[in-house]
Amino acid sequence: MEEMRLKKNKPLRDELDRLLQQSRHNEPPHRTTFDDFSLSVMAAQGPQELFRLLLEEQKIFRIDEIHICLVDRYHEVERLLTQSYQHQYRGLSFVDSETCQQLISDIPAHTILGSHIPQQYEWLIGTKKINKYKSAALLPLKRGKELIGIQLLLSKNKNRYHKTDSTIFLDKLAAMTAISIENCINRQRILELGYQDGLTSAYNRRYFDEQLKNEIARCVRKKSDLVFLFIDIDFFKQVNDKYGHQAGDAVLVKLVNLMREQVRSSDIVARYGGEEFAIILPDTGLQIANGVAERIRRKVESQNLVFNNVTLNITVSIGMASLSQIKYQTGSGSKGLAYLPDDLDQLLLKKADEALYQAKQAGRNRVVIKKLVNQKTMKNE
Ligand code: GH3
Ligand code: MG
Ligand code: MG
Repeated sequence: MEEMRLKKNKPLRDELDRLLQQSRHNEPPHRTTFDDFSLSVMAAQGPQELFRLLLEEQKIFRIDEIHICLVDRYHEVERLLTQSYQHQYRGLSFVDSETCQQLISDIPAHTILGSHIPQQYEWLIGTKKINKYKSAALLPLKRGKELIGIQLLLSKNKNRYHKTDSTIFLDKLAAMTAISIENCINRQRILELGYQDGLTSAYNRRYFDEQLKNEIARCVRKKSDLVFLFIDIDFFKQVNDKYGHQAGDAVLVKLVNLMREQVRSSDIVARYGGEEFAIILPDTGLQIANGVAERIRRKVESQNLVFNNVTLNITVSIGMASLSQIKYQTGSGSKGLAYLPDDLDQLLLKKADEALYQAKQAGRNRVVIKKLVNQKTMKNE
């Protein structure tokens, strides 16, 4: 009787054993190693250390390659994570939530495993590497209901991640990864406060100097254009002299708010000094930038700023220069990146400053793009 019962239950026990085995299969070989790893991830000081752990150290868990792709809006997250390092983490990428909506909506809600995944995520791995990997685990990274990114664990072994394997451990890993990335982004946001101008809360000069270099390098790599605007308040000294320094301060704060409303969140509005402001418009051409500059100029001109019952009429002059102009002028654009001068940022500043000077000379309250010598094809000149 007992024998009969055991025999009858055998398929059930076998199935149970198989499931247990599968579940263990995805557990890390040494639990303490995983616990140590989790602690290091949680304690990581800044993005550089965090992404070294997540993209390199994590390979101790029999993973051949790791990719993390973060959902980003206007590359704000990218800027926060990579700004101070001039560093590209191999395996870390970003997708724009505006332009890649389809890509993002195709990401599954739960962890999936299998040999079909490498092919499916070719856009992330790259065509050249696609055939190297025979199985993968795809972990959506979520905070609450919001998808903040995905993590892709790749293996050359087709049995490493099997479709029916348990995902309990990987789900834990995804939760820990998502929390640590979110913490890191928030920390960077706080750090950024040290980069703010106390009066206007625009970025300060220190941040501007760093970011201009970073953004130029990024746009050169991406082969996209970048435009730089110098904005100076017209006859600002008279405002101070006539209505007092406090009225002048109020104008500066108001102007920064107005400029911020007219640009994307990824554009950088900085106080360059006194009553001079700088705006960096990455991934933007002259034509669009001219529209932005004109909009700012018109808004400032038409707004009535009331301070202590006095209406202040303010105007600004704007000088503009673009990366493509500089490349054109130095003749380096067509020869490739190796020929680009190191001081592109200084050349850009100089060009925009000259344009601002021309705007002032021509009567103020205007936008000027300085003409280049021998330049025939540039629009908006
Ligand atoms: P222009 O049209 O040629 O630019 O004339 P301007 O009067 O604006 O230029 P100028 O450089 O002669 O004067 C700039 C003034 O900006 C002088 C300075 O007192 C004022 N200023 C600079 N920083 C601040 C600030 O933080 N608050 C206030 N209220 N004024 C400031
Ligand atoms: Mg001025
Ligand atoms: Mg000035």
